[in-house]
This record gives sequence, structure tokens and C-alpha cells, in this order.
Amino acid sequence: MKKKTRTKFVRYLGKQMKENATALQIYSRDMSELPSLTKLLFNSTPDGIILPKNVEDLQRIYNLANETRTPIIPRSGGTSGFGGSIPYNKGLVIDCKGITSDILIEPIDQTVTTSPSIIFSELQNKLKLQGFSLCSYPSSFYSATIGGWIAHGGHGIGSLQYSSVVDQITEMQVVLPNGQVEIYTEKDDISLFFGSNGTLGIITEIKLKIKFDIPIKQFGCIFDSPYELMKGLKELQQVNPFSVWFLNPSQVSAFNDTFGYNLPRSFVVIVSKEISFEEEELEFSNNFNNTIRKAGGQILDKRYFKDIWNFRFKTFAMLKEFPYFLVSEVILPIETSVKYLRKLTNLFEGKLRAEGELISGTHYSLLLYLPIEEVIGDFKKSLLILNLNKHVLKSKKIGGFPYSTGLWFAGYYSQIYGKEQFKRYKEFKKKIDPKNISNPGKVCSPKLRIFPLFSLKFVIRVASEFS
Ligand SMILES: Cc1cc2nc3c(=O)[nH]c(=O)nc-3n(C[C@H](O)[C@H](O)[C@H](O)COP(=O)(O)OP(=O)(O)OC[C@H]3O[C@@H](n4cnc5c(N)ncnc54)[C@H](O)[C@@H]3O)c2cc1C
Repeated sequence: MKKKTRTKFVRYLGKQMKENATALQIYSRDMSELPSLTKLLFNSTPDGIILPKNVEDLQRIYNLANETRTPIIPRSGGTSGFGGSIPYNKGLVIDCKGITSDILIEPIDQTVTTSPSIIFSELQNKLKLQGFSLCSYPSSFYSATIGGWIAHGGHGIGSLQYSSVVDQITEMQVVLPNGQVEIYTEKDDISLFFGSNGTLGIITEIKLKIKFDIPIKQFGCIFDSPYELMKGLKELQQVNPFSVWFLNPSQVSAFNDTFGYNLPRSFVVIVSKEISFEEEELEFSNNFNNTIRKAGGQILDKRYFKDIWNFRFKTFAMLKEFPYFLVSEVILPIETSVKYLRKLTNLFEGKLRAEGELISGTHYSLLLYLPIEEVIGDFKKSLLILNLNKHVLKSKKIGGFPYSTGLWFAGYYSQIYGKEQFKRYKEFKKKIDPKNISNPGKVCSPKLRIFPLFSLKFVIRVASEFS
């Protein structure tokens, strides 16, 4: 960053700007660790980190950034693993966690208004005290924020019953990259902000639909093969569950070893349902049992999966013991993914762990973890990342797509959200951010710094093919 530019930011932001080496290193990565070879492709070390406290700070930051053409990279929990919250080519990371506001629960409308920088678990605790609950949330519940979830384009637990978080937003305040503050409601094109990865500005306030805090009960079953599992996922929708969560056999073994379960090593499915009365539970249980038998599965006795619902937030903790691990996520269609899922299960010597969540009547998200048991070098790490990416990209053949764009999958926006939405996105982006200062390279693939003839998307795709 030029000295003159730095002086301008420091003059306005003073102590709100951090530039020490440790902070810069922390903010140069998200959930996935980047091998140093990637430095040839992009420079993820920021020039500084700014901790704004309010909307006025953000307006000032964007105005200065436009004046000096400085990239602005919004970040909240930093829990996504797609590189959305790290720089592509330096710039200032904006840590939004300091932008707080009061929590306003409106029981009659069943809505909550809050700062999007609030961590899910904190908001859920506040809602529960008044008999309400979030409609859906990610499994990074204890560390992720609502703003980050919307911008990442996330789905999660409860999305099946209550739809995507974008359908739960009734009002949203955003500081646009041109420094203007806008309020959008359900009547506006809010969907453009879903999966925008901070490229359309910073979300600063949010009004979300909430639901009554109805008790959620779990039911379990197992399927021997991906074919039966997919049949089961289709059939299960008839019983209108809150969530359908499943583990592949490798992930089942990890659960057994880490948490002391004794689950059969097959595809284990945990179905959750909102249930208020005993009669409802009995009726659901009968329907559930019939549905699973029809799909060729077996019912799992409750003692096998006792308390497993509480471990749905702990799966990352199981990776801590490994020197290195890879993470990726893909969205797949139920109808066409049997072969793909079978192949995934056998990849990497059968060590690839997978966890799925049904997100709609037609698709499920699949979180992939590859723990690496020995210390490996940078070159091998890069090859493994590219190899995993290759399999995520191959899902296109069966109608699947990467979970989000971020840095790794920039350039795949239209595959995820469709060509029509991409057109609307580009028109809006041009209007509000003509200099492309808000999180450049996180939706449209950037040109390489060292070979500007090539895009990052092209290089990653070609390198993945050869990995
Ligand atoms: C253990 C674990 C489990 C997970 N489970 C799920 C899951 O079930 N479902 C799921 O969807 N994801 C999941 N994730 C991924 C990730 O945690 C979520 O998407 C999360 O909601 C991202 O929120 P964050 O606050 O960490 O965002 P960050 O990682 O900080 O940012 C994500 C993107 O949003 C942008 N951004 C951040 N804040 C704002 C803002 N206020 N305004 C505009 N843009 C902003 C950033 O620039 C970045 O592009 C999981 C991750 C982990 C580690």
C-alpha cells in the first residue's frame, strides 16, 4: 500500500487499524490453510485490518477506498473455507464483528432485528429466552455470523423446512461500495446479496423471520449404499422433517472413535422433526418407520444415536488431532448423484469423510473433509487441494455445483445461481462499484497477477485436471 494511501486511512481510523505481523497473518487465511505455493497466484496477506464500529466508519472506509482504489475485504467469523474473506491481492480486511446493535424481538410479527455480526449461538440464546428460535442455522453455529452466512450463500439445519436464509430476510441495511446506505425489503432483489461474498457492500443490519421454539426430536436409520440413501432422501420429504442430516461410512467411524458411539459403518441418517405432543411423536414415528422400510433402509434404535444431535456442531473438532486437513463443499441433486457419491466414498483410499444435509426437495449439501495423518510438504498439499477441487467441479456433469464462489470457485457464479441472476448481479455491481473495490475476485474470477492473460479460474481448473 502506498504511504500516502496508508496515511489517509490512519488519519481517519487511528487505533481502529491494525498492522502488526501476527494480525496480518491471522487475517490472511480462513478455515482452510493455504499452502505457500499459492502465493504465486495471489497475495492473501492484507495491508491492514480495520475494526469499524458503525455505519459511518464503513461509509468513510468505502469513500477512501474509492479515492485510493484500495481493495476492501469484508470479514465476520472467518469460518468459511472458500477464501471469500481473504484478500486476492492485498487490500484492507474489514472485521465487521465490532458493528453491534440492540436485539429487537417482535413477537407479533415473529421477527428479530439485529446486527448481522452477531454469532448464531448468541442470538439463538436470546431468542430462546423469549420462546422463539432461528428458523435455520449453519453447523458453524458457535463461531459464524448471520452476515457472513448470507454473503457466503449458506444453507443449513432447518433450511429444508424453512427454506434458505434469503427467504427469511424481511429487511436489510447495507453500506454499498459507493458509500451510500440503503435499506432493502422483501420487495427488492435481496437474492443478489445471497452468495455475493461481500462484493456488493457490507450488510449492517438485518430483520429476520423467527419461529416458535418447538422441541426437536431425532429419529435414526441406516442405508447400505448410496442408491438406497438417495431413495431414502426422496421418500423422507413426505414426512416433512425439520432437518435430514447424514454421515458417510468414514465419518461414522470418526464419530465412533471420537465420541464413543457404536454406529454401524454404513450411511447413517438422523432425521429431526418439530414435535410438541406425545401423540404427534407416535404418529411421526410410524410414518418414519414405514417410509424408511419402503426405501430399503433400517431403523436405528435410539440408544445408538443418543445425544448425537448435540454433536452436530462438533465435527470440525475431530480434525484437530491431524497435522493437516482439507475441506470443501458441494451441492448435489438427489436424482442423479448415486454414482458420484459412490465414487467419492472410494476416493483418497476411502478416507474422505462426508456429511450431508438435505437443503430442498431436490438437492443436498455435502461437506467433505480429508484428514491428512502425516506431515506433508507444500507441493503435496497443493496437489491434494487441487484434486479435491477437481471432484467438486466434476459434479457439474450431474447437475451439481460448488457451494459458494469465494476465491477458489470465483467464476462459477452462473453455475450456482443461473445466468439470469448473474446478469442482474453484474448490472447492479457496475452501478454501485464501478472501480471494483469491494472484495475483488470473489464472484468473477480475477486475472492472474503474474500472467494477466489467464484468469485464476482457468489456472485452478487446468491445474486440478493434472493433479
Ligand atoms: C465447522 C463448520 C461448519 C460449517 N457448517 C456450515 C453449514 O452448515 N452451512 C453453511 O452454509 N456453511 C457452513 N460452514 C461455512 C461457514 O461457517 C458459514 O457459511 C458461515 O455462516 C460464514 O459466516 P462467517 O461469519 O464466518 O463469514 P466469513 O467467513 O467471515 O465470510 C464469508 C463471506 O461473507 C463475506 N462477509 C462477511 N461478513 C459480511 C457482511 N457483514 N456483509 C457482507 N459480506 C460479508 C466475506 O467477505 C466472505 O466472502 C461451516 C464452517 C465450519 C468451520
